[in-house]
Amino acid sequence: MQFTDFGLDSRLMSMVEHLGFTEPTEIQQHAIPAAMAGHDLIASSKTGSGKTLAFIIPAMERLIRNRALSKRDPRVLILMPTRELAKQVFTQLRLFTSGSQFKAVLILGGENFNDQVKTLEKDPHFIVATPGRLADHLSQGHFYLKGLELLILDEADRMLDLGFSKQLKQINDAADHRKRQTLMFSATLDHAQVNEFALALLKKPKRIAIGSAHTEHKDITKRFYLCDNLDHKQDLLEHFLKTEKYQQVIIFTATRSDTDRLSKLLTEQGLSTVALSGELNQGQRNQIMDGFSKGQQKILITTDLASRGLDLVNVSHVFNFDMPKHTEEFVHRIGRTGRAGSTGDAISFVGPKDWISFKNVEGFLQQTFNFDVVDGLKAEFKGIKPKKPKGAVKAKSLSKANDKAKRVQPKKVVKRVFVAQDVGELPVLRKKSVLPVSEIDNNSETETD
Ligand code: ADP
Ligand code: MG
Repeated sequence: MQFTDFGLDSRLMSMVEHLGFTEPTEIQQHAIPAAMAGHDLIASSKTGSGKTLAFIIPAMERLIRNRALSKRDPRVLILMPTRELAKQVFTQLRLFTSGSQFKAVLILGGENFNDQVKTLEKDPHFIVATPGRLADHLSQGHFYLKGLELLILDEADRMLDLGFSKQLKQINDAADHRKRQTLMFSATLDHAQVNEFALALLKKPKRIAIGSAHTEHKDITKRFYLCDNLDHKQDLLEHFLKTEKYQQVIIFTATRSDTDRLSKLLTEQGLSTVALSGELNQGQRNQIMDGFSKGQQKILITTDLASRGLDLVNVSHVFNFDMPKHTEEFVHRIGRTGRAGSTGDAISFVGPKDWISFKNVEGFLQQTFNFDVVDGLKAEFKGIKPKKPKGAVKAKSLSKANDKAKRVQPKKVVKRVFVAQDVGELPVLRKKSVLPVSEIDNNSETETD
């Protein structure tokens, strides 16, 4: 299939050609015609498979083909969870709008509020934004959404994880009219929270799932190493940074303080390193991401702030120095490599504190992983065996064991995860129990925009 088969407006088609795209990716093949036909979509496909163009192209097409519903209100609103991702999508959108009559603006948290008010007064056609700041402007009447034609939620599940459901509902309510179309995209869109939210926001949505979040990403080689403690993790990391042939590396840690500590350590060792965390101001964050994407540093150390969406072509290796708190972030973190058909390596360290996350990742990906060993750096830690079923314990020792278990066991929290099954318009949900993650990472700081 070719882009020419979509019957796009000739000006849009020549932009696509000019950018060098000829063959749509699989998600584009399905999502572009469905969005052009006016359907609401819940669309998912693996990381790096071209979801951005899958919504930019139908958005451009709609604006070119249709008359605006309102002269002043934005026609397309694209929301995403982090500023870095919003900037990246904005850059891609600008490749299309710069040669057209359409104006696109970027509204992010952490930037000058009054400048943004002036920008919004210019009545842009496209707004790309993080939800928190956009909702503030909406509350203060700096723009209206009565004429909004297309609401696009990229990495929708992450926005919900970060607690933006209130802002998203506010935005939805401000743009709630019959002609509005809504598109949701992510690599992981099949848990219950997303589904409930989708039901509230989307009208008879079509579900497009290319593969599933649980399907293996064949371009990414995953390796796992058991670790005893922090020093052991650091030794392993040093080993790999010496022995692996890498272009650029992203290292994910559990918290900002881990990011800072590790960054100091690697810099002291003379490695070209930079750390990105949510407490930096927006200018610093931009500088870091610009520098890293230009290859000025080899190693980026960060938290889940950078797990979503970023398209950095030279990232050959991703390290999970700590396993992620939210299971699906594993898929997104490792998806910073192996993009658009290239290959990548994902190396994960699993210490006692990571064990539950590791087992949850195995459950999520429906795979069992073996551990590799580095000579001279073998761990004593061998994983945590599941508790023996009750029947296996001798009757005499049972009450003693129960007493002990009552004392030492944290309160049992069973997190319910819903696994979707694609049966057409909406997923059918199956309940699945996973281990609780609440105890393993209670000092992680959430980074929001
Ligand atoms: P996703 O959102 O699915 O993670 P992106 O939209 O960030 O992926 O795209 C990943 C990379 O693939 C980008 O560098 C993009 O330019 C490239 N890409 C997108 N569509 C195509 C296509 N049809 N042909 C070739 N490359 C593409
Ligand atoms: Mg994306």
